[in-house]
Amino acid sequence: MKSSVTQLAELAPALAALLGEDAVHTEDAQLDAYTADTYWPAIHARAAGVPLGRPDVVAVPRREEDVAAVLRLASEHEVPVVAWGGGSGTQGGAVPTGGGLVVDLRGLDTIIEIDDVSMTVTAQAGVNGDILERALNERGLMLPHYPASSQWATVGGYVSARGSGVLSTRYGKIEDLIVGLRVALPNGQLIDSVGVPRHAVGPDFTQLFVGAEGTLGIVTRAKLEVVPLPERSFAALHFPSVAAGVDAFRTALARGNRPSVIRMYDEEATVRTLSPVVGEPLDGVCAIVVFEGGEPAVVAAERTATIELARLEGARELDPALAETWWNRRYDFYKPPHHPELPAIWGTIDVVASYRDIHAVHQALKTAVRDRYAPQGLQLRMHFSHWYRWGTMIYARFLIPDGGPDALALHDRIWNDGVTAVLAAGGVMNDHHGVGLKLAPFMHAQHGAGLEALRSIKSALDPLGIMNPGKLGL
Ligand SMILES: Cc1cc2nc3c(=O)[nH]c(=O)nc-3n(C[C@H](O)[C@H](O)[C@H](O)COP(=O)(O)OP(=O)(O)OC[C@H]3O[C@@H](n4cnc5c(N)ncnc54)[C@H](O)[C@@H]3O)c2cc1C
Repeated sequence: MKSSVTQLAELAPALAALLGEDAVHTEDAQLDAYTADTYWPAIHARAAGVPLGRPDVVAVPRREEDVAAVLRLASEHEVPVVAWGGGSGTQGGAVPTGGGLVVDLRGLDTIIEIDDVSMTVTAQAGVNGDILERALNERGLMLPHYPASSQWATVGGYVSARGSGVLSTRYGKIEDLIVGLRVALPNGQLIDSVGVPRHAVGPDFTQLFVGAEGTLGIVTRAKLEVVPLPERSFAALHFPSVAAGVDAFRTALARGNRPSVIRMYDEEATVRTLSPVVGEPLDGVCAIVVFEGGEPAVVAAERTATIELARLEGARELDPALAETWWNRRYDFYKPPHHPELPAIWGTIDVVASYRDIHAVHQALKTAVRDRYAPQGLQLRMHFSHWYRWGTMIYARFLIPDGGPDALALHDRIWNDGVTAVLAAGGVMNDHHGVGLKLAPFMHAQHGAGLEALRSIKSALDPLGIMNPGKLGL
């Protein structure tokens, strides 16, 4: 990849000829808007006036065919291309570290079809999460993917970062909700995956592009499963220990109960994270549980059975109103004063493991992050928020209120120690935030020889290496 000044100078007019002048930006103020997503080092670098990356040109296509044509042009000019959805990613995936072209997908903002017979919605990649949800709600439906970032994030970002929403324990992660994708390839082709998610016509390349973070192509539309808007039933539980809570919910899921939300806070997270947001003085291990989505009698039976299994593990029920308050305030966790700002250092090591390994992973995070960095004032708050029949995940949020002059080095050491300890304990280094820049250095440790196989696929689809270079460890 060359991306010389001359090639970029030629690319901008070619883009303008293709998309129209108003869809192509080279002005400083416009380019500055694409220097950081929500990755802490990107925010830190931007605040210091030395952003991790800045595009040379931004294109905002309005038609899917134009995305494909833009990629063909970028290939001809050998210019790096970074897809930009809502810029809400936490891993630095959308930061254009090599400059070049940013393709802002928010021009693809059409909800193409809501099919209430097949229970699917087809939306272009740039459709905003909240706008999509409102449109579905008006039809008595919902996309059961409720990430806390839906006010910024896009459909393409949901798919490309392999995300998860708060209701995932019942409905699955985004990869479980995808029926089909349309993708623009670097050679300028638009391809559609098979229009149903279950078939036997060879390998299904849908999942190849899920979590690919714009390194293989650009998702231009997604067909996703929707469900009827449900009534919700709330419960709150207090457990004698994390182990008791894990055992209760593991058993409940194994028996076929499917709460939509299980959010279990460990002792530190109950006090420092849950309590301030719900406005109740809580301690110990507390869990918020939500039931929904079936016949009322089925929902009630699942609730009763799950609470009974929790009681057998020593839990006591708290006022269900606590869980309802949590639901109503669930986005407050990510806003001031509950969300930190510079000069703090923060990050979320969100990891996933089987039930056999989850306790070792929890302990590894305590030892490698909480205890090791206690002298620097680090707090580690962990909750278990997405549950599967085979395992669960830990959302480990670390915070140092003032990073000091060596904040970046300290940030990187915490990540290195945390991820290394998680992998050694049998965990997987991410559940739903993706890889981006943040976890790229660990991809070999995670995948071993499998990373070479991924690199071969990347070379076949993107022989010039123009698609989001430096991300995903590819
Ligand atoms: C406060 C907060 C809360 C969050 N909560 C959640 C949560 O609950 N669950 C969750 O999963 N995530 C969460 N996130 C992370 C983030 O919002 C998600 O990863 C989201 O899916 C990213 O969508 P986006 O449109 O903003 O993508 P971006 O940040 O713009 O991009 C993410 C990556 O995907 C690539 N990309 C974007 N669009 C496309 C496309 N059309 N084709 C190909 N590649 C593309 C980008 O190049 C980048 O690599 C949270 C983030 C914040 C700031």
